[in-house]
Amino acid sequence: MTVSERLFDPHGILEVAEDADLATIRRAFRRLAMRWHPDRNPDPDAAARFREIRAAFDWLTGDPAVDEAGDADDAFDDGAGAAQAAADRYDELELELAEAMLGCDKPFVIRRQRPCDVCDGSGSVALTHTRLCAVCHGSGKVRTTHGLEKCHICGGRGYVQRAECERCAGSGEIVADRTVNIHVGAGMLPGEVLRLKGLGHETASGATGTLFLTIRLAEDGLFRLAGRDILVTQPVSVLRLIAGGRLSIAAPLGPMLIDLEPGQVAGREMRLSGKGYPGRGGSLDDAGDLVVTLEASLPAALDDAQRRTLSRLEDQLQRDRAGHFPALDAWWQAYLASRR
Ligand SMILES: [Zn+2]
Ligand SMILES: [Zn+2]
Repeated sequence: MTVSERLFDPHGILEVAEDADLATIRRAFRRLAMRWHPDRNPDPDAAARFREIRAAFDWLTGDPAVDEAGDADDAFDDGAGAAQAAADRYDELELELAEAMLGCDKPFVIRRQRPCDVCDGSGSVALTHTRLCAVCHGSGKVRTTHGLEKCHICGGRGYVQRAECERCAGSGEIVADRTVNIHVGAGMLPGEVLRLKGLGHETASGATGTLFLTIRLAEDGLFRLAGRDILVTQPVSVLRLIAGGRLSIAAPLGPMLIDLEPGQVAGREMRLSGKGYPGRGGSLDDAGDLVVTLEASLPAALDDAQRRTLSRLEDQLQRDRAGHFPALDAWWQAYLASRR
């Protein structure tokens, strides 16, 4: 079987029924063209698939882009006139905790299509030499489910004088990413939405929609947000917890020195009022708290002198066991009473 005898099934290629109307065919073409456009699809077969989809569309619509006239194809045009509003875009913007707290300028890539500059959006270019028709392979005839038909891509001539543009694979559009700088005010909470007028989709007439960016916070290994409170668990030397004194507290924007009251050790929680997530616009009045759970850390690798010091301290404290170790003392009292 030669190539030109292979069954050409444009309905099958576009995944539409035999009796599909023009609107359905256009929709199917747009959907498949979007998926297989070589600009978007890294699959090495994408360009070939795209050409096949293109040929099927041209065949069924009788509106070939690769014809003598070379009329611009409007396959991507939704009939969206100037009166029709441009579509909005929806996306997410991920921020580090510190960026969200302080506010930041963040580059954001907007994916968009624009007319191909090689073919001026027509999808086809004039050839200096005629070329074999890609659908009928020069025979001028095509075998379809209805039998042998005259190829109407080339008008039965078997050759064409225009070819699809290689830059845009005949789509007339190329993907042109645009990086914009997004200003994020201080203290925006995850889930809040930035509305950026003019950064939505663009219509042919130049109207633009709105870009809606939902703020997300990147996973932070240490800090957790609860409303505007920031929660963190921090290890602290058990000796410092007992003795109190100056302590460096880990805050999201850098360490803070505080005066630690001496005392209770286990599960100790410190609430630093207003040192959490700032309010809207960075307002400190509406800021949450920084809630630090202090986790007792035991000293390790003591040398002899350090052990002697601790031992002396222990002996001293045990002399007033009821005063310094009430729980321990109560336990011994109960034990001794039960053994009597
Ligand atoms: Zn082009
Ligand atoms: Zn042909």
